[in-house]
Amino acid sequence: MNQQRYWNESALVLKRYSAGEKDRQVILFIKGVGKISAKARGAKNLTSPFVSRLSPLNECRVLMYRASSGYWTITQCETIREFSPSTHSTQKAMIGLTMLDIIDRCSESEHVNDPLYEVTIDTLEKLASINDEQKMEQLFSIFQVKVFEILGILPSFSHCTRCHKKIDLDKISGWDMMQITCHDCEKFNPKNHARETFDKEYLKLLNYMKKNVIESSLKISLNNEQGKDLKRMLKTLWNAQTFSLPKSFDVLESLHA
Ligand SMILES: [Zn+2]
Repeated sequence: MNQQRYWNESALVLKRYSAGEKDRQVILFIKGVGKISAKARGAKNLTSPFVSRLSPLNECRVLMYRASSGYWTITQCETIREFSPSTHSTQKAMIGLTMLDIIDRCSESEHVNDPLYEVTIDTLEKLASINDEQKMEQLFSIFQVKVFEILGILPSFSHCTRCHKKIDLDKISGWDMMQITCHDCEKFNPKNHARETFDKEYLKLLNYMKKNVIESSLKISLNNEQGKDLKRMLKTLWNAQTFSLPKSFDVLESLHA
């Protein structure tokens, strides 16, 4: 009895590494499946069509099966889009690879997350067409806002975190990336609760990025200072998560230090 089941899906290659003399193990983020680790037999053979196709940042269509043992094997693969980092600037390549690292860290094995897949592909497509470094950074920030939103860890920036009532942004006294409270609930906030305060305009910006497509948020013109503030705000949210911040994130920061 054949217990193998076949899948033919779009996949983003997150990582690959050697597995034995001839094979490669590939970490894929797959539409309708989620993150999996699959074996690509003979992929280290130079004449294998797998060699160039199963590279990190490529979107491929893979034919694969899952053995009854639970192991995944890729049997065929064709490229849909190539986002090869070698053809891009260091900055662009670093952003692309850091995005993959983020996806890898915040997704669980075989946990379907198509919105995350769509946002990642959409961002990579935009990234490929941008040449302005400041816009690349802005795109990377928008991507993070979208990821946080999909993961459900981005607070509503227009409703009170405690009572969920809509609040008047012009009347709030304090907010941070973890919570924003109305005047009534603010009374329960311990006096010494340290809030890193940012301009209230940023609440509108974050809300806009949350609700609108990447394309529109990318059109907003941010100055250098605003771009930096946005990065700082996102960093505080990262630091509050159980999954760690990718190492490449720091490298990316140091490029502009
Ligand atoms: Zn409230």
